[in-house]
Amino acid sequence: MTVENASIRKDDTTTTSFIDEKQIESLLHDCQPTPTSVQRIIARSLSKQRLELDEVATLLNIEDPEQLDAVFTAARELKQSIYGNRIVLFAPLYIGNDCVNDCQYCGFRRSNREAQRVTLNQAEVRAEIEALERVGHKRLILVFGEHPRYSADFIADMTRLAYSVRQGPGGIRRVNINAAPLTVEDYRQVAAAGIGTYQVFQETYHRATYERYHPAGTKSNFNWRLHAHDRALEAGLEDVGIGVLFGLYEWRFEVMSLVAHAIHLEEKYKVGPHTISFPRFQAAQSVTAPDYMVCDEEFKRLVAVLRLAVPYTGLILTARESAAVRNEVIELGCSQIDAGSRLELGGYRQEAHDQNLEREQFQLGDDRSLEEVIMELLERNYCPSFCTACYRLGRTGEEFMKIAIPGSIQQFCTPNALLTLKEYLKNYATANTKSSGEEVLKTQLAKIADSRLQREIVNRLKRIELGERDLYF
Ligand code: SAM
Ligand code: SF4
Repeated sequence: MTVENASIRKDDTTTTSFIDEKQIESLLHDCQPTPTSVQRIIARSLSKQRLELDEVATLLNIEDPEQLDAVFTAARELKQSIYGNRIVLFAPLYIGNDCVNDCQYCGFRRSNREAQRVTLNQAEVRAEIEALERVGHKRLILVFGEHPRYSADFIADMTRLAYSVRQGPGGIRRVNINAAPLTVEDYRQVAAAGIGTYQVFQETYHRATYERYHPAGTKSNFNWRLHAHDRALEAGLEDVGIGVLFGLYEWRFEVMSLVAHAIHLEEKYKVGPHTISFPRFQAAQSVTAPDYMVCDEEFKRLVAVLRLAVPYTGLILTARESAAVRNEVIELGCSQIDAGSRLELGGYRQEAHDQNLEREQFQLGDDRSLEEVIMELLERNYCPSFCTACYRLGRTGEEFMKIAIPGSIQQFCTPNALLTLKEYLKNYATANTKSSGEEVLKTQLAKIADSRLQREIVNRLKRIELGERDLYF
């Protein structure tokens, strides 16, 4: 059996894989930018082509300020042309922090005896979701430690529970998962519960570094984790999310590896990753900072290059980052952010937000409420979106790629963003947010070139005004 086979066994320690360290390192060494090559690569990306690894290496090697500026400008332009002003909002919900692993960077690691271990029961999860629905959330990501009690059965039950909770006009319409890699059979079980995206981050694609940071537990098996998305896709899940924890190893190597991973999935399953996440290490209980911390300037560069490299993939920017960094980085190509996030287990039900590192995986950089984030997005002329239409209409996996690759996401996404924003303004917003929101709705509506589509959106906005809910294209 080769590691290219998704059914790789847990005890397989073969070293061949689609991450070819030597190739990545030699491309990073050899592909030096020239004004012409940078121009050509940017033009290819702006025509919505996924870039090849040599092209990504060239962009990562840019040091010239003018060429860097060209990369940032192109990333902004590509974001506008594919995603428009829309930013999708979600909230993470930590279900349990028991963990058999000992990831050296994480407050939940098993050797951290100070951590308070908590697994929410069904009533507690219900109460958390009610609190999230009361402020207007529609999309959740359920987060789990790695432990036998967080079995596929357990994840599937929590997913069904999340969909069933109804608080006032609220309801969760998409439940994504961030949890340990599963077997093909287990992925089938969670797929049957109707999950959206299954996220697993490789943390670092550099094998020796990976081994150093994951000395014990199931997660110490690099290959098992590397092929998690293959197994998920083989099990019939259509949307998978990949990611790196930036800070563990050299950021350029990790960006190359993320793109290599995307190419592998695309070539093998005709479906690239639905999302890419790029968390940066944050302080956590009794954890020392890793060796390759990424500064804000490098962070901006890596996001811009990822945007240009895989135009069709959603980029997720989390509340690990401060509001100031988020404001700057969003425009370089992010399509999803979390808002109003609480990382302490059971944190959404508490009135006051009090950072408690004993129940948190790491420290949050942005602890603004959902409405505060929405207000700021509106002031900056973004269109906050709670849209879940693609997944509910079966536009996932290969179907999603068909609309995403030519960049026709806007045909559906912008109208749906407007409808879900209108619903938010009606049900949850205070007066100031409402009036800023109505302004943004007007401006965005005026930009819709297709007059038939524009009329249909106006018609649906009126229906929402009159009390209908959950309308989408
Ligand atoms: N336990 C599962 C796992 O490890 O895949 C899933 C949940 S884990 C709680 C989610 C992600 O948090 C990890 O994949 C890692 O990238 C990130 N993380 C862990 N410690 C972190 C830290 N100190 N700062 C920022 N992100 C961190
Ligand atoms: Fe456990 Fe995940 Fe934290 Fe590792 S990152 S210690 S697997 S919760």
